[in-house]
This record gives sequence, C-alpha cells and structure tokens, in this order.
Amino acid sequence: MSDFSRIPSVEQVLLQEGSQNLVTNFGRSLVVDEIRITLESIRQGIVRGEPVPEIAKIVEKTRKSLEDLEKNSLIPVINATGVILHTNLGRAPLSHSVASAVVAGLTSYSTVEMNLVTGTRQNRNTGLEGLIKRLLNVEASLAVNNNAAAVFLSLRTMAYKKKVIIARNQLVEIGGGFRIPDILQQSGARLMEIGTTNQIRLDDYRRAIDEGGSIVLHVHQANFKITGYTSEPELKDIVKLAHSNGLPVIDDLGSGALLDTSIFGLGHEPTVQESLADGVDVICFSCDKLLGGPQAGIIAGKSEYLSKIKKHPLARVLRTDKSLIAGLEVTLLHYLKGKVESDIPIWQMISTPLDEIRRRAEFWKARLGDGAIIDGQSTVGGGSLPDEILPTQLLALAVKKTDALASLLRTETPAIISRIQDGMICFDPRTVLPEQDDVFIEIITRVLSKYREKYEN
Ligand SMILES: *Cc1c(COP(=O)(O)O)cnc(C)c1O
Repeated sequence: MSDFSRIPSVEQVLLQEGSQNLVTNFGRSLVVDEIRITLESIRQGIVRGEPVPEIAKIVEKTRKSLEDLEKNSLIPVINATGVILHTNLGRAPLSHSVASAVVAGLTSYSTVEMNLVTGTRQNRNTGLEGLIKRLLNVEASLAVNNNAAAVFLSLRTMAYKKKVIIARNQLVEIGGGFRIPDILQQSGARLMEIGTTNQIRLDDYRRAIDEGGSIVLHVHQANFKITGYTSEPELKDIVKLAHSNGLPVIDDLGSGALLDTSIFGLGHEPTVQESLADGVDVICFSCDKLLGGPQAGIIAGKSEYLSKIKKHPLARVLRTDKSLIAGLEVTLLHYLKGKVESDIPIWQMISTPLDEIRRRAEFWKARLGDGAIIDGQSTVGGGSLPDEILPTQLLALAVKKTDALASLLRTETPAIISRIQDGMICFDPRTVLPEQDDVFIEIITRVLSKYREKYEN
C-alpha cells in the first residue's frame, strides 16, 4: 500500500472524537476546509519522505491551525517598557469610562446623527463640537479619522492649487510614511520652502508673501530637536505678519497637549491653547497622543475656514467612527471637569510620583521573591518630547539569556513587553496598569521558572 493511500479522508477525520468539538466551535465548513489544508500538507510531507501521522495527530494539527486563526486578532499586552505612548502598542490606553462609552456606542443604536428634540437629522460632530468650543474657546471644530487626515483635509480645502509657505526646518517626517512635503503635494498645494534647516527669519516669510505665497503652514517639530546655531521666529509674530497681509495660518501641532508637560518635570510641549492664543486660524492635533484619548484628529479654529472644511467632499471620506466620537467626548469631559491626572491613563502615568513607582517596584519584588530595584528612565514616546525623560524605578532580573526570557514573556497572553538595561530584563511600573499587577506577577513567576529550567540548569 502506498503512503498516499494511507492518508485518511476528510470524512474519516471528521468522525474522530476531537473533531466534534471543533465543528461546534468553528463551524463545519471552516473545519472541513482546515482538514483539507492539513491533509494536503501531509501529502507534501510524503513527497519529502515523511511518514503519515496518526489520525489523532491530524485532528490535533487541524485544531492548532484553527486556534491560530483566532490568535491573529489583537493580543493584549502588558507594557513594561516605560514608553508611555508606544506607537507599536497602540498609543494611549483608554480609561474604563471612555472604553464603556465606546462599547455602548457599538453595541446599541444611538443618536449618532439624530436630534432627539426635533427628531430630525443632525451632524454627528455636533456634541463633540460643543465640548471643544467650551474647552478651547474656538468658533468651530471637526473631528476626523486621525491627525494625518486633519492636516490633509485642512490643506486640501484651504490650500488647493495655492502656494503654501513652510519653513525648511518643518518639512518633517512623523514616521509611518507621513511626510509633510508629500502630504502638501497630495493635497494639491504648491510648496514654498523658506529659510534653511537651522535658520528661519521673519524676513523669509515676508519675502515669500511678496512672492505670492497665500497661506502659511506651521508644523510642530514633534519627534526631533535641532540644536546649536538655530533660530526661528515666534509663532505669534508669524501669525501677525501673515494676518497683516491677509494670509491664514494652519498649525499642525501633532501631539495635542492641552496640559503643560513641564509641571511634571518634562520639557515644555507647546499646547493647543498657546497656539490658539498666538492667533492661528486653524489648528490640527492628534487625539491619541498627549490628549490621551481614542484615535482621531481634531481640526479647530475659525468658522470661516471650518465651514468650508466641513463641506469638502473628502470630509465624508475621513470622518470619525461613531463609537470613537463617544469615547472622545468622555475624554474631553475629563478635561472639562479637571480630572485629567486622575482619570486619563497616560496622564496618571506621567504624573505618578517616583515614590509611588518605587513602592510598586518593591511590591513586585516582594511578590516575586526575586530581582533588584534599579534607577531607570521612562519616556513619553508617540513622537513627542524627544530627549525628555521621567526618572523611574525598574524591577530588574539578572538572567544569562535576556533575549530568551524577553521572548518567552512575549509569547504569553497578555504578552509582557520588557526592556533590557545593563544586561538585565527590566520592568517599569509606570506603564503597567495597576489592575494588571496580579496577572503580571503570575506570568513572570511562571515564565521565570520555565526559563530557568530550560536555560540555566
Ligand atoms: C503625530 C503627528 C501627525 C500625525 O498624527 P496621527 O494622529 O498619527 O495621524 C501629524 N503631524 C505631527 C506634527 C505629528 O506629531
């Protein structure tokens, strides 16, 4: 009998004891598909000279592949890296009140576009706009998919086929392919670069205005610093010059800080309020960076421009998801109520005093019965406040194979993302949510003994 003829049929595999469970969980047609894929790989194995596995093994292999399908979705992570806005880990985690608003928005019908008093249609942005007006004292605003969309839509509406003045030190790349010159080009604007990488003068702006520039774009240098022989005019002077010549100013602030980061021992990140006080006509900022909310971008400023932006056909293309609007509203309410440091997770992390961090590191150490407490540095991340650090305390584990332990920790659910410092695996309590402590300790205890058994015996 050839090995090929010893391969069971799909029906035979389905009749196995373990298969019934699979059919219940995954549905018959998906299980049949997966069995076919497994059988095909066995056929290819035979060609390579491998034996035909037992039928129970075939069921087992099919089960594993099916379970892997479910694993492809988002896996929860315990972020022990100390990077607060970790872009690869989804930037700002949301508070439970914000998350409940998002879930409620998703699981039931809601007044996304209905006014309950009149029973007629109303724009989905209305409630949010009311809160933003109140918070920032602006005439109008619009929330879109993210800040990249906010900048693009503003430029497309206000600068299409026009000459946009931008300083050479602001032609930045944010990461993930978002480059200001490309966005300008895609929006149909014409780029008018002024000054040099390190020196920008008000006269450079003046000359560009004389040469037909018709709008000014100001971009926050979010993720890098140029030091040494540098200078650039203050935003308020740029605005004054632009306005006296009838030009509007768009400000891409990126991080969207509404609180002054310097209160917490960090450098000063320009705030939305400061830009508005400097007189910019339209400001764009992210909602999942220093604002600490869900992914979205806000365009705010003068209604003269916002009314055109809202009517642009691309506004519909770039609009925000209804549930994220709900989450954003609750986030902004935290600001209005003065509950930022207590209720917004990233601000809790930024504002946690060193003493408290040390206490948590000590608590971890006591529960693990292992490790040492060492000094370390947390960072804000998310392309904001480069070079700025928050002193922290780390729980450090001295192991021989740091990469092996780090990798074992990443395969858990939730995955634990550690960092390596001074040749040790380190965990920063600042970015580990307090409610994750129990599962964090449980996983580390288990993984550490697995690691020691495998690598240090
Ligand atoms: C982060 C950033 C963006 C892009 O914002 P997203 O919310 O990631 O789309 C644009 N401009 C600046 C200056 C930024 O820092």
